[in-house]
Amino acid sequence: MNLPTYDDVIAAADRLENQAHQTPVFTSRTVNEELGAEVFFKCENFQRMGAFKFRGAFNALSRFDPSQRKGGVLAFSSGNHAQAISLAARILGIAATIVMPQDAPAAKMAATKGYGGQVVLYDRYTEDREAICRKLADEKGMTLIPPYDHPDVLAGQGTAARELFNEVGELDSLFAPLGGGGLLSGSALAARALSPACKVYGVEPEAGNDGQQSFRTGSIVHIDTPRTIADGAQTQHLSPLTFAIIRRDVDDILTASDSELIECMRFFAARMKMLVEPTGCLGFAAARRIKDQIKGQRVGVVLSGGNVDLTRLCELLTP
Ligand SMILES: *Cc1c(COP(=O)(O)O)cnc(C)c1O
Repeated sequence: MNLPTYDDVIAAADRLENQAHQTPVFTSRTVNEELGAEVFFKCENFQRMGAFKFRGAFNALSRFDPSQRKGGVLAFSSGNHAQAISLAARILGIAATIVMPQDAPAAKMAATKGYGGQVVLYDRYTEDREAICRKLADEKGMTLIPPYDHPDVLAGQGTAARELFNEVGELDSLFAPLGGGGLLSGSALAARALSPACKVYGVEPEAGNDGQQSFRTGSIVHIDTPRTIADGAQTQHLSPLTFAIIRRDVDDILTASDSELIECMRFFAARMKMLVEPTGCLGFAAARRIKDQIKGQRVGVVLSGGNVDLTRLCELLTP
């Protein structure tokens, strides 16, 4: 298998220039005191459409050839990838069809439609979304862009960590949320190139630790759709592509519980005045959990997104 390299991350960054935001890096004295470390939050909750996924989607779509552009793009997603594809497609003048679970958060569904994507719904507990997509691709000539299992997608996702290292310099540890592994594998490519000694940690919801099991056993583990508030990381398995990079370049996979994620959301809202979605809190939750191991370090934490229904947010934050 031909794995993407850091050069692909650089090429993606060139395509994303003036298209994606260079998101801010925030620090908090309270956090530094709590962890006894110097923590840099890479705030992808302030990215266009509210998550890092715009990076991978735009990078992939900007590489379409004329016949792919004409056929349009197809995506399946529980939310952020759908919005990312819809927005990137609109910017590039490409038609987008999005296959989404019926129970996707209302805000995410509305936003996807708002960006101009055509939405097709399915039941995530009984239907196979990949089969539905294959059928649409075959019949209508659309090009499927998966949420993580694609070299251009993961190279695009790696541009966030690249910006972080370029802005703050080398780090001792980097924490990034883990679903299917596009963000983590891209981040790891950037880390290995720009901060070779940095420990890279992927963080999954405790209820769905397939990536951790895969990492520790050395082969991809499949699980049922996990029930967790981290809806951006309800993936069932890594892909051969992301797993190959993760095995080679990532140091460990950690987990965080739903209650830890809620504590982090509360902290970000109350103390740092920002909205981070549950999945976006995975990295910080894990850093808190292993704070004894990262004492005195310079630590990067990718806050991957900020898309959460306000009604849902209120439910989650009400004790
Ligand atoms: C998709 C997503 C993730 C997980 O990314 P992968 O590339 O699938 O590992 C994490 N956080 C948010 C906010 C996401 O939308």
